[in-house]
Amino acid sequence: MKNLNNLPSFDKTIQPPWLMEFTQRLILLNQPVMQDFRAWHFRPGMRFQEKEQWWQPGSSRPTPHEGVDFCCFEDKVGGLVYLRPECRIPALFKGRVTALFDDFLGRSLYIVHKDNGHQQSGIIYAHIQPTPEITVDRVVQAGEVVGVTAAQRRPGPLRPHLHLSMCHAAESVPPPRDWQAVLRLPIELINPLSR
Ligand SMILES: [Zn+2]
Repeated sequence: MKNLNNLPSFDKTIQPPWLMEFTQRLILLNQPVMQDFRAWHFRPGMRFQEKEQWWQPGSSRPTPHEGVDFCCFEDKVGGLVYLRPECRIPALFKGRVTALFDDFLGRSLYIVHKDNGHQQSGIIYAHIQPTPEITVDRVVQAGEVVGVTAAQRRPGPLRPHLHLSMCHAAESVPPPRDWQAVLRLPIELINPLSR
């Protein structure tokens, strides 16, 4: 494997730490498309709890955004580059797959991992096409490819992207099996970019 630190023109100040590692893995997994990555670009509506529909300026989401959308980045000459369909997505941490369910662009994957201080920590990887090996109860390693960004369903501004949600819950709370459950169960959604 290439040395992660040898990536040229890469913004080494990306925070939080998980995002730095995730971005490095993403760049290596998606060469040459991400070769010139410099920094993530977030339009209004792409960050946690924002209300805008970034793909439809002027309109609002039915509920505040439950996570963060990774859709495009700035390259080293200041251009905006969009993730392509079938962008390979690595797991952030080691964990166990507890559910796979449909969302409005593809499939969502719920992975529970250990996080000291919290009984149940889960991450939802949404709008992806999971790889066939990713099935319920499978233990995935950090960095393992869990899927690819789902293809765009129709032409337009709602481009392929990865939605990430981070969840905390008591151990007695069943892992959610669909998006309604994410919002209905006593699950605390936290801001991924503040971790
Ligand atoms: Zn989203």
